[in-house]
Amino acid sequence: MVNGEPTAPFNATKGLRQGDPISPFLFAISMEYLSRNLNDVKESQEFKYHPKCSKLYLTHLSFADDLLLFSRGDVKSVTTLHRCFQDFSDASGLQANKEKSSIYFGGVTQEVQEQILSFLGFPKGELPFRYLGIPLATKKISLIQWQPLITRMVAKITSWTAKKLSYAGRAQLIQTVLFGIQAYWAQLFVIPSKVINTIEAYCRSYLWSGTNTITRKALIAWEKVCTPKSMGGLSLMNMRVWNKAAISKASWDIEHKSDRLWIRCLHAYYIKNQQFAQMAIPQQVGWMVKKLFEARSSLPLIQVNNAGSVIKQIYYQLLGNNAKISWKTLRFGNNARPKAQFTVWLQMQGRLLTVDRIASWGVSVDHECKLCNNQNETRDHLFMECSYSIKVWEGVLKWMQVPSFRTTQWELMEKWIIQRIKGKSQQAQIFKMAYTEWVHAIWIERNQRRFEMRSRKAEQLVKEIAYVCNVRAPTRIKEKVQQFCICQPSRK
Ligand SMILES: [Zn+2]
Repeated sequence: MVNGEPTAPFNATKGLRQGDPISPFLFAISMEYLSRNLNDVKESQEFKYHPKCSKLYLTHLSFADDLLLFSRGDVKSVTTLHRCFQDFSDASGLQANKEKSSIYFGGVTQEVQEQILSFLGFPKGELPFRYLGIPLATKKISLIQWQPLITRMVAKITSWTAKKLSYAGRAQLIQTVLFGIQAYWAQLFVIPSKVINTIEAYCRSYLWSGTNTITRKALIAWEKVCTPKSMGGLSLMNMRVWNKAAISKASWDIEHKSDRLWIRCLHAYYIKNQQFAQMAIPQQVGWMVKKLFEARSSLPLIQVNNAGSVIKQIYYQLLGNNAKISWKTLRFGNNARPKAQFTVWLQMQGRLLTVDRIASWGVSVDHECKLCNNQNETRDHLFMECSYSIKVWEGVLKWMQVPSFRTTQWELMEKWIIQRIKGKSQQAQIFKMAYTEWVHAIWIERNQRRFEMRSRKAEQLVKEIAYVCNVRAPTRIKEKVQQFCICQPSRK
C-alpha cells in the first residue's frame, strides 16, 4: 500500500537521496569521522603543518560540504594528508569533486609545485578565490573585484517594480539593499572609499530621481538622509560609518572574544604576549589585519554594553550626537501614509521644490501660486498664507474640532504644531496624522494644477484628508476619528 492505494510489489533498498532531511546529519557525522582521522595525521612523522597553522594544530576547516585542508608545501606532507583523505573516501564513499577543488600555493618552488600537482591531479588555483561566496585574498581586493557587488545592487533598483515606487518606497528599498550589503560584505571587509562613493551615488540618484543612472539632483544632502529620524534624516544606513563600526567591532573582538579561531590565530602569530591595544603593527601582516590594528584608535572612545548588537552601538557612537530636530515628535508614531510623511519631511526643512527655490538656481519659472492665483509661491505662502490652503486647513481643523490658529511666521507655526502633537493623547495622534496628510494633499494639488492642469475644490480635499485619516487610524484612535464624521455621514 502506498498513499492508501495498492501498488505492484517493489524491493526494499537502503540509501539516501539528495535532499533527504536526514542527509545533513549523516554528513556531519561522517565529517566528524574525517576530522578524527585528520587528527591522527598530526602524529605522523611525515606530516608538517602549514607554517601558519602549527601553533593552533590546525589541519583543516570545514563548513557544510566545503573542506579546506592545510599542510606545508612539501611532497611528503601533502602525500600524508592525501592518504588520510583517501582512507576516508574509501570508507565513506564520499569523494572530492575534482572540478570544484583546487590547490593553492604560497612560497613553494616551481619544481615542488609541479610534483604536488601531478601527484594529486587537482588544478592549481589562484588567490583570491571565493569561499562561501566571499573572495579570499591576502592583498587588498582590487576595484574590479568589487564590481559584482555594484552590479547586483544596480540590478535591484532597476527592476520594473522599483521604478513604480514612491519616494518613501524607494527609501525603504535602498535601506534593504544597503542592509544586504553590510550584512554580507561590510562585516568582512574594509570597503574602499571609491566603492562606497559609487554605491552611495547610485542610492542617492535612485532616491531622488527613481533612475539607475547617476544624477546630481538631490533635495537633501546624503549625509543628512543617513542620520536617524530624530536628527532629521531617514535613518538610512551611512555605509562609511557602518563599515568603520564593523571593523572596529572586529578589532574589539580581538580583546574580548579570545575563543574564536581567527582571533586565536592572530594571538598565536602576531600579538603573542603583547598588549593588542598598545603594540606596534607587525610588519608582515596582511592588508586586512593591518586595518584591524588601525581600527584600535577609535576603540577607547567607544563604550559597549551587553544590550544589543555591538556594531550598532559602535555605529551610533561614531555617527556622533548631532542636535535633535525640534519637530521630531512628528516623525514618530505618525499614522499618515509613508509618502505623506516624506512630503512633510521635506516641507518642515523647507526643501520642497517650490518655485522660489527653482528660481534661485537661475531657472525661469512662473512664480504665481496656482492654488490662489494671487501671490508668489514659497513654502511659507503655500502652508500659511495661501487662501486656498487655509480653506482646506480650516476645514480639517473644524473636522477635528480644533480651534484655528493663523500666523505668517514659520517659527510660530512650527511651535504651534509641536505643541499640538505633544504627548500620547488621541487628539495629538489625530492632529499629527491630519497635519501630515494636509501638507501632502496641498503639495499634490499644487503639482496637479501646475503640471497636469487638473484642479479640485477645497471641500473635496478636506473630505479626502478626513477619509484617509479614517482609513489609516489604528484601533486606539479609530473611535475618536469616527466621532468627527461631519463629512462622511455614510460611514458612521
Ligand atoms: Zn496661494
